[in-house]
Amino acid sequence: MSREKTAFITGVTGQDGAYLAQLLLAKGYRVAGLVRRTSHDDRAMQRLEWLGISGDVELIDGDLGDLSSLTRACQRLQPAEIYNLAAQSFVATSWQQPLLTANATALGVVNMLETVRSVSPHSRFYQASSSEMYGLIQEPVQTEKTPFYPRSPYAVAKLYGHWITVNYRESFGLHASSGILFNHESPLRGIEFVTRKVTDGAARIKLGLAGELRLGNIDARRDWGHARDYVRAMWMMLQQDTADDYVIATGVTTTVRDMCGIAFKHLGLDMESHVVIDPAFYRPAEVDVLLGSPAKARAKLGWTPEISLQQLIVEMVDADMARLKSKSA
Ligand code: NDP
Ligand code: GDP
Repeated sequence: MSREKTAFITGVTGQDGAYLAQLLLAKGYRVAGLVRRTSHDDRAMQRLEWLGISGDVELIDGDLGDLSSLTRACQRLQPAEIYNLAAQSFVATSWQQPLLTANATALGVVNMLETVRSVSPHSRFYQASSSEMYGLIQEPVQTEKTPFYPRSPYAVAKLYGHWITVNYRESFGLHASSGILFNHESPLRGIEFVTRKVTDGAARIKLGLAGELRLGNIDARRDWGHARDYVRAMWMMLQQDTADDYVIATGVTTTVRDMCGIAFKHLGLDMESHVVIDPAFYRPAEVDVLLGSPAKARAKLGWTPEISLQQLIVEMVDADMARLKSKSA
């Protein structure tokens, strides 16, 4: 296949980066991804390998904190589309490493935008903003117009990333869009996030590898969707003539307790007998509830989510069961 258009993805080794790379390859793009050096390169590629595309993505060494690596990559690639997905993305860690979070999740965005502005101003740019920016919610259903009230160093950093993207669009005419994505999950979600912790934990209990699952605030509510649906929305944003900001959400909110119930029930287990509440997993400041309106995305992009929470959790549980069985085989 001759690949006409080039896309550059930062965070290509993460959950969304992997699914987005898969989507863009299927659409005929040449896909390049930024990869930071670690002492265990084998682990970095796991998600791309799981999707069977590790050989199809051009990997470029770099780091969001190293402007020279970003500039060199974009100068050479001259990408039609740039997706800035890299970040320190875990809320709980952001209280332990607030400076690292600010460097990657906030300043990393302006490094990318400076790169675009100076060496590839024609590139269309996507910024991975987050529903965590709504934090202590100011309206029961959050839209693009709802005021923000961040509740963690992660959310504060994302807020900078969001506004600097808007500012570079308005200041320099860049085609820069910000997707305010609500939580989205998949079998490739990091194990520290609550959905994956639950699906992995339930599978371990089912297989006799663990006896209990320790969780924090299970009364918190999130608007959960599937990462496969959400990366499609990112691509759709960059196909618009005009750059803009969009909420991407399902419009349904569910407690951690009920999400957990789906996982345990799918395995024929009683959640109440296995879940232990552990205050160690409480956060210094909590986001109690998130619920987004995808009305603008539906009207302007024609985007709607296709995968329900029930389907998502069942897919994740089945994937964790298969993983654990193959490890112990
Ligand atoms: P992941 O944590 O799975 O992936 C994060 C990626 O960023 C990884 O590839 C990681 O590399 C990379 N990265 C981290 N720091 C740096 C750095 N300094 N330089 C270069 N790369 C770096 O996140 P997701 O895929 O779930 O999320 C994608 C983006 O969307 C993130 O920005 C996240 O904050 C945001 N977001 C996610 C939501 C969700 O529900 N998933 C909701 C809203 C926003 P490595 O593999 O080496 O660690
Ligand atoms: P977040 O919305 O980006 O913070 O995504 P998470 O999946 O990390 O957390 C979602 C919600 O689940 C938050 O309100 C957490 O407080 C809550 N939660 C309850 N128990 C846990 C737990 O053990 N781990 C995590 N990560 N979150 C938990």
